[in-house]
Amino acid sequence: MTIQDWTQNTEGLAYQACPACSAVWYFRRTFCPCCGDGAPQQRQAGGRGTVHALTLITRAPSEELRAFAPYVIALVDTDEGFRVMAHAEQDLRIGERVQCRFARIADRLVPRFEKTTS
Ligand SMILES: [Zn+2]
Repeated sequence: MTIQDWTQNTEGLAYQACPACSAVWYFRRTFCPCCGDGAPQQRQAGGRGTVHALTLITRAPSEELRAFAPYVIALVDTDEGFRVMAHAEQDLRIGERVQCRFARIADRLVPRFEKTTS
């Protein structure tokens, strides 16, 4: 199975896991940040998680994002155990269950979390 990831312009969220110590993390590395193992595995996330924190961005950091402000950035604890930062819908609350969908923002495909009941 090919792993889909939004950074490759396909709708999916990939993460890494360590076969030696079972650690999981989001940002791609060539070694495990916990035990140093040199062969992390790339895995496909289901996209479900729980909101850990929310930030309302009212002053966009770049000209191309200005048209989208105000927008929400969320920190989400995924069911797989890694934490990811991404766009999110506006009316979320901390602790709420979310599902990763995808949106085109400033002409880029990006993950965007939305409320879910499961
Ligand atoms: Zn490890």
